[in-house]
Formats: sequence, C-alpha cells, structure tokens
Amino acid sequence: MSKLYFRYAAMNAGKSTNLLQVAHNYEERGRETIIYTAEVDHRAGDGIVSSRLGVKRPARVFSPSTSFADAFEARPGCILVDEAQFLAPEQVRELHRLAHQKHVPVICYGLRTDFRGVGFPGALELLALADALEEIKTVCRCGKKASMVIRHDERGQRVFEGEVVQIGGNETYESVCPSRFYEGHC
Ligand SMILES: [Zn+2]
Repeated sequence: MSKLYFRYAAMNAGKSTNLLQVAHNYEERGRETIIYTAEVDHRAGDGIVSSRLGVKRPARVFSPSTSFADAFEARPGCILVDEAQFLAPEQVRELHRLAHQKHVPVICYGLRTDFRGVGFPGALELLALADALEEIKTVCRCGKKASMVIRHDERGQRVFEGEVVQIGGNETYESVCPSRFYEGHC
C-alpha cells in the first residue's frame, strides 16, 4: 500500500543501512527508487547516503524549498528520504498528500529530537501525519534502549547549547537512554 512511513531512531541505529537495503530490495525486483538526503548533511559529501557498514549511494539533496512533485511524476517504486528530520513541515504535508494521490510509497528516516531534547519540526509533522510509525532500535552504553541524542565537543565534553546543525564541526553524537540524557549517568 502506498503510504507515508516514518522510521525513526536515535543516532547510529542503522537508519541509512535500512534505507539502502530497501532500495536494493526494490531494484532487485526491477523497481526504481528515488533517494533524497538533506542538503545540510555533509558527512559523506553532497548527495550521498552512506551506511556505517560501508555501502554508499548517490542521492538527490533537498533543502527547505525543494518540491518533491517531480519525483512522483517519475513513477518510482518507492521514494526514500534520509535525514528526514530536516524536512520543513510543509514538505512533510506534500509527501503525505502525494504518496496517497500518486500511489507511491514514501519512507522517511530520521531523528525525533535534537541534542537538546527538542523535537525537530519535520519530525513532529511526520509523527502527526505518517500512516505508519516504525522505530529502529539501538542501545545506550548501559544496554537499555537509547531514545535520546547527546552532543560532545572535540574534547569529549557534553554540549548543551549551540546550533542544531553544525557544518564542519568536530562534535560527536551519542545515542543514550533518558537516564543518561537527564542525569548524566545510567
Ligand atoms: Zn543508559
């Protein structure tokens, strides 16, 4: 069925790996996929979705002003969106409407909250509109489910303030359980 999916997770849970596997599965059955990633994501260069397992593929990039209408006109088997937390709310509404009007499934992968514990506007709209919500689980260093993300600076100190998107910084992110997020230990 053609619907809008939101597959959410904390950092390093394998979202990109899952996306690339889905693309492979469609193509194995002779169906094209169209892959998008956020323009702000420069981890692997412009327009690349890369999995930590080593697989990578070129992707279209979206900015807050991108329309997805032309991707639906190409009648792909599926549209896959990585870093979907960076979608603008109106883009989520467009994807939901076109998935149903054009009968093309759309699978969005992304975070729910930033390192401050604040919901991304795009993720909040996805949580409101997606026809299917699916969690990709990962674990905190204590072994409990990690549902939050914290940021460390280049010295390994936790950072509580700053831009949500840092280009070219040396910060690192860790997926943690709520106890570690709020108490600093678990
Ligand atoms: Zn923990």
